[in-house]
Amino acid sequence: MNKKDVVIVGGGAAGLMCAIEAGKRGRSVLLIEHNEKIGEKIRISGGGRCNFTNLVAESRNYISRNPHFCKSALARYPSSSFIALLEKHGIAFHEKKLGQLFCDGSSTQIIELLLKECRAAGVVIQTNTHISSVDKTETFSIDTPHGNIEASSLVVASGGLSIPKLGASDFGYSIARQFGINIVNPKPGLVPLSFRPADKKFFASLSGVSLDAIASLKGIDFHEHLLFTHHGLSGPVILQISSFWKKGEVITLNLLPDQNAYKILESVRDSKSYLSTVLERFLPKRFIQKWFESQGGPLPINRYSHKDLREISKGLSAWQIIPFGTEGYSKAEVTVGGIDTDELSSKTMGTKRIPGLYFIGEVVDVTGWLGGYNFQWAWSSGWVAGQYV
Ligand SMILES: Cc1cc2nc3c(=O)[nH]c(=O)nc-3n(C[C@H](O)[C@H](O)[C@H](O)COP(=O)(O)OP(=O)(O)OC[C@H]3O[C@@H](n4cnc5c(N)ncnc54)[C@H](O)[C@@H]3O)c2cc1C
Repeated sequence: MNKKDVVIVGGGAAGLMCAIEAGKRGRSVLLIEHNEKIGEKIRISGGGRCNFTNLVAESRNYISRNPHFCKSALARYPSSSFIALLEKHGIAFHEKKLGQLFCDGSSTQIIELLLKECRAAGVVIQTNTHISSVDKTETFSIDTPHGNIEASSLVVASGGLSIPKLGASDFGYSIARQFGINIVNPKPGLVPLSFRPADKKFFASLSGVSLDAIASLKGIDFHEHLLFTHHGLSGPVILQISSFWKKGEVITLNLLPDQNAYKILESVRDSKSYLSTVLERFLPKRFIQKWFESQGGPLPINRYSHKDLREISKGLSAWQIIPFGTEGYSKAEVTVGGIDTDELSSKTMGTKRIPGLYFIGEVVDVTGWLGGYNFQWAWSSGWVAGQYV
C-alpha cells in the first residue's frame, strides 16, 4: 500500500495549485489525473492564450447560492498573487479588455509553470489513472488499477461537467453523494443559447453576424458582443447572461445600446430615406434586412407613423427572447452549481462533516463570469486548501 499525506483528484488549475502549496508545506502529495495530460482546459482556454485572471476579481463577479462564500479565498489569494507568480517565471502577459489578463505567448507557459512548481514542491503526478473506489475509515483508501493509496486528506479538484471530451466527469458529485454532501443542481454556464425551431430557421442566414448589445435578465446587465450562430445566439454577452438564465425566462436584448433608436428615427421622420438605410448606419446590413423581412421589408421612413417608429425602436432596443435551451455541456465553458458551499469551510475548503475531505475549483457552487474569474477561483480555492491539507 502506498501512503500519502494528501491525494488530489484532478490535474486542472485548482488541483495543481493545491498540490504546489501542500508540497511546499512538506506534505507528501499525489495528484491523480485520468487524462493522459494535466491542464487540458488551461491549454485550450482563451483561444490558446489563457485568460488566467482578472485584475479585479470580487465576489460580485461570481454566482453562488452563498455570494459571500468566495470572499475569503479571493482575499487571501487575489489576482495580484497569481500575477506575481507569472512574473517570477518571466511570463509576459497583457490586458485585453475589462481587466482580462492573457499570456502574450501561449497558455502552455502556464502549464509549464505549474509543472515546474510541482516538481520543486516534490509533488508526484500520476496521469492516465482511473479511480475505481474511495472509502474512508480513519484515513481515505483510494483504489486505482496501479494499486491502493492511503491518504489523510482527499482533495476533490475534478471540475464540473463542461466539455466531456476534455475529461470532465461527475466524479466530484458522486463522491459528494457517497458522503452525503449536498449538491446545488448543476447546469451548463457560459454557454450559447438556442432558438426555438421556427426562429432558428428564420435567423439561420444571420450565422456569423455580430453586433454590440446589452443583455438583461432579472436586474443583471452585460454589455458586450452578440453573435448569431446556426443554432441561436452566442458571443460574450450571451455567454455571460446564460449563466443566470433558467428555462422559460425572458432575456431582453438592446441591440442599439449606445443610441436612442426612437430619437434617431424621429429625427429623419420626414425624409424619403429608407428605414433600412438609416438603421444600417448603426447595425449590420444583413441583420436589418432580415429583421424587416417578416414585415414585408422596410419602407421609406415617411410612410411610418409615430406609433410604428416607436414599435420598431422598441423592438430593437428591447428585443425579448425566450431561448429554447442551451447548447449543453459540450459547448459550456463552465458548470453553474456544484458542491453546496454550506457544506464547506470558506477558510479551508474542507467539508464540515467529513474530516480530511476537501472540494476546490469548479466542482464547488462558485461560478465566475466570463473574463478570467473562473481560473482565479481555481487558483484561490486551490491555494487556500493547500495551506490546510
Ligand atoms: C473552452 C473553455 C475555455 C475557457 N477559458 C477560460 C478562460 O480563458 N479564463 C477562465 O477564467 N476560465 C476559462 N474557462 C473555465 C476554466 O477552464 C475552468 O473554470 C477551470 O479550468 C476550472 O478548474 P478546475 O481545476 O476546477 O477544473 P478543471 O480544469 O476542469 O480540471 C479538472 C481535472 O480533473 C480531471 N478529472 C475529472 N474527473 C476525474 C477523475 N474521475 N479522475 C481523475 N481526474 C479527473 C479532468 O480531466 C481535469 O484535468 C474555460 C473553459 C472552457 C471549457
